[in-house]
Amino acid sequence: MPAEFPDLFDRVVNLSKRRGFVFPSAEIYGGFRSTYDYGPLGSLLLRNVKEQWIRSMVQERDDVLLIDVAILAPPAVFEASGHLANFTDPLVDCRKCNSRWREDQINGVCPTCGSTDFTEARAFNLMFKTHAGPVEGAGAEVYLRPETAQGMFVNFANVLTTSRKKPPFGIAQVGKSFRNEITPGNFVFRTREFEQMEMEFFVPPAEATQWYEYWIEQRYNWYVNLGIAESLLRIRPHDADELSHYSSGTSDVEFSFPWGWGELEGIANRGDYDLTQHMKHSGVKLDYFDQVTNERYTPYCIEPAAGATRAMMAFLLAAYDEEDVKGETRMVLRLHHRLAPYKVAVLPLSKKAELSGKSREVLKLLQPHFMCDYDETQAIGKRYRRQDEIGTPFCITVDFDSLEDNQVTLRERDSMAQTRLPISDLLPTLRERLS
Ligand code: ATP
Repeated sequence: MPAEFPDLFDRVVNLSKRRGFVFPSAEIYGGFRSTYDYGPLGSLLLRNVKEQWIRSMVQERDDVLLIDVAILAPPAVFEASGHLANFTDPLVDCRKCNSRWREDQINGVCPTCGSTDFTEARAFNLMFKTHAGPVEGAGAEVYLRPETAQGMFVNFANVLTTSRKKPPFGIAQVGKSFRNEITPGNFVFRTREFEQMEMEFFVPPAEATQWYEYWIEQRYNWYVNLGIAESLLRIRPHDADELSHYSSGTSDVEFSFPWGWGELEGIANRGDYDLTQHMKHSGVKLDYFDQVTNERYTPYCIEPAAGATRAMMAFLLAAYDEEDVKGETRMVLRLHHRLAPYKVAVLPLSKKAELSGKSREVLKLLQPHFMCDYDETQAIGKRYRRQDEIGTPFCITVDFDSLEDNQVTLRERDSMAQTRLPISDLLPTLRERLS
């Protein structure tokens, strides 16, 4: 991370709470450990992260389709996928202080008491299980999905027949996933309830390697294009002993978090494992008949699997900045304008009624096009700072001259440059600069 903020993590967590990005869940009851609520600004930022993903993965292509699958799923899905048997982490208990840990995360030393005396590791299944309907017991069990991906495999045939696509094509989904993590933590980096953005790209087997490389590059560029410096990103191919048994290649896009490199997303070549498993267990054909070559085959699948909530945290960390302006510290969140919660803030110079009237006219003009904030409290300098702190790219100030000349001041967040322009030019100017 930028060396100038050794306590960057704390600063971003504090900012998140203070300005309404992220709140501890159920806080009035003392909080609910490692669970978070997204506040007025955080919910907009998170929504923008997801929208940018959909824009690049679905909207700007013609070979990927978006679906939205139920979170509750029957055991059969996870029997077939292997999650019931294999979706486990190695759980150990410290014999001295009784705390519980994921064995692969602690290097043999208890982070609470320093002891090295642990129980044997047990396989702990991370799926949340509950039951559907009023009767508990066998036959009523359901699971909260631990990833969105299975929804794409289970709906493969539905999408194929209704969309008339053919490989190579992808099915994408954004939504909540749940994992009973042994040690959640580092703010929203690892939580038990989180949001994922996943895409399964189905290809003829002979093209799998080429598409795998393609998606690694695409996904890395997505973070760069949304403003994360390349010095904070890297691609890490998994070693052979890290690979899942079905994967012939996995690479992670990693971000330099304040505690070290951490995964933002994984891109995996999953072969035909998933479709084959679901075909075996459901008895339904999930292969593809190519009428041109007269060949029937089970497509291979390349999966870029990202976390929306984790990406949001990376965008916040990467955007945090402070600078000295005339002897005062200015805190500025240099979020890409497409991610910024508010694109524009309308600020009347004073609270006088005639300025409010004009300012609200400007606000009404912009609201159908951009998410806007409106603020008439405090001195104008303070209000600029408040908008800088939450990453608003543009402020518009309405002053007494505006009442005469129908012009306003447009102030840009990063450069703090101010320009005066007619109200009638606002919309085209902002449209261009916020596109
Ligand atoms: P880890 O090894 O860190 O537990 P994983 O490799 O199992 O993660 P995947 O199954 O590949 O993670 O999930 C894809 C993405 O979903 C991750 O890269 C991450 O961004 C996000 N993700 C996974 N688990 C969590 C979690 N508990 N909290 C927040 N995001 C998560």
